[in-house]
Amino acid sequence: MSIATNATVYLKDYTVPDFLIPEVELDIALFADHAIVRARLVVERNAAAAEPAAPLQLDVDELTLEAVALDDTTVSRDRYSLDERHLTIPNVPNRFELVTISRVYPQKNSKLMGIYTSSTGFFSLCEAEGFRRITPFLDRPDVMARYTATLHADRERCPVLLANGNLIAQGEEGEGRHWATWRDPFPKPSYLFAVVAARLEQRADTFVTRSGRTVALRFFVEPGKLDQSAFALGALKKAMKWDEETYGLEVDLDQFNLVAVGDFNAGAMENKGLNIFNTKLVLAQPDISTDFDFSFIDRTVAHEYFHNWTGNRVTCRDWFQLSLKEGLTVFREEQYAGDMYSRPVVRIQKVRQLRSFQFPEDAGPMAHAVRPLSYQQISNFYSNTVYAKGAEVVRMIHTLVGQPNFRKGVDLYFQRHDGHAVTTDDLVQAMQDASGVDLTQFKLWYDQSGTPRLDISDRHDAGSQTYELTVTQSCPPTPGQPTKCPFHLPLTIGLLGADGRDMPLQLEGEPAPQGTSRVRRCGKRRPYFASSMCRRRPSPPSGEISRPLSSSTTPIAMTPCGICSVSTAIRSTDGTRVSA
Ligand SMILES: [Zn+2]
Repeated sequence: MSIATNATVYLKDYTVPDFLIPEVELDIALFADHAIVRARLVVERNAAAAEPAAPLQLDVDELTLEAVALDDTTVSRDRYSLDERHLTIPNVPNRFELVTISRVYPQKNSKLMGIYTSSTGFFSLCEAEGFRRITPFLDRPDVMARYTATLHADRERCPVLLANGNLIAQGEEGEGRHWATWRDPFPKPSYLFAVVAARLEQRADTFVTRSGRTVALRFFVEPGKLDQSAFALGALKKAMKWDEETYGLEVDLDQFNLVAVGDFNAGAMENKGLNIFNTKLVLAQPDISTDFDFSFIDRTVAHEYFHNWTGNRVTCRDWFQLSLKEGLTVFREEQYAGDMYSRPVVRIQKVRQLRSFQFPEDAGPMAHAVRPLSYQQISNFYSNTVYAKGAEVVRMIHTLVGQPNFRKGVDLYFQRHDGHAVTTDDLVQAMQDASGVDLTQFKLWYDQSGTPRLDISDRHDAGSQTYELTVTQSCPPTPGQPTKCPFHLPLTIGLLGADGRDMPLQLEGEPAPQGTSRVRRCGKRRPYFASSMCRRRPSPPSGEISRPLSSSTTPIAMTPCGICSVSTAIRSTDGTRVSA
């Protein structure tokens, strides 16, 4: 797959990389007006690649290449080609070590991708395609490597030197400079690489995992802001505990660092073991921050931490799969917020967000699928659809298979794919295999854009004492998708009495009332019918109402539902008789 800046990239054109890079060793010397990056890459031909003799083609962007060596032999300038986008070396062996020396200019980096400077030092951002601004690389998420990074910088100006993973060595070197080496033992894609070299203050804490390991936690902030850092560090510990208890997922490193910087333009970034935030998303103290600020910080810190598994340990095969990590992680963040605060409030906030931002996006010229079919710049797809609707799609799977099966599905997903770059299809397949629920049609949620509409009409038959709902699904055309196949949609049906309480529910074919609600599948072109035994015709409910859906005066209540976990409630006037 060629990742172009302006040319259109298509999902259907995906091919596996011609080469893999299992090991990366970086030596980054930071100076007042430039940086020198020495990269040693272990490169192997990918046995699964289509072209067995393909040249090595590495991505580059705004860096000056100073030297290239292959297996300790200098590659002369006439043996490789270099343009604005690629370094290409033909006739390479099947396995070799490649050393490149590049010069970059963090001080002039106005894109804030790659390594750039802020008032307190050097920071980095690589998602989605910033690593190629640090060193020539196969800068695509399905090339996963183990990284070792050594940073060198002036001790006075940059006393803190951080990279991904665990600190394994550090020391002094002449002229007031010092160095630190970090090793990340887990394979990761290049977009998760990060460095920080800055003058920062730190708050330290520890977290003991359920298996008994003690993990050092540190939160680095700009000088003078340490008093605003306590809450975020506490939130990190809560998130770590919640992920252990809810999904059995432990923090895997011995050190986990958070950094807040005023000039970080991505909001927050889940770099492995080195999460970086814009200060406004993580700093708070009681006399200047609102309750909403605190809950937002709690969720933001938790979200980035949850990526440690959903996004970092298992990552995206290509950028079309962005919702694989974002949809699943936003859903996990919403579950966490529901457990920490109020599930109804969290749900209402999400539905308001969908209605205010995602529904209009899905109904306008920018409508796109959760897994887009093409893009010109992937940065355009960090959208409400990929994040918020992507999380709703995961929520629908959760509704369809139920919590115990969802957890089994997550376990199976990690069992199959830990350390790999995969697709949204792989996630859905794990859920299907773990639950036994057929999700073949469900995958359309990833490929079809637009907000589906349910038209629901009702009929009460006094003679047979049945109450019948007819549900018809449709979805308006969206750009490039004039017609749609039916979505596999979970529909939760329940009855409410006049007193507002849940009533026993007896659906057609059931011998007796059981429970108070049932999840039904709505996923065919023809209408879906749901019948319930009900002596009296239900009356109009209070609460959130859709329009009257039939010629009768009896509307169906649609509880806040977003696009997925549609709940239909029926209220009856007598509130007493459900079954005949
Ligand atoms: Zn995220």
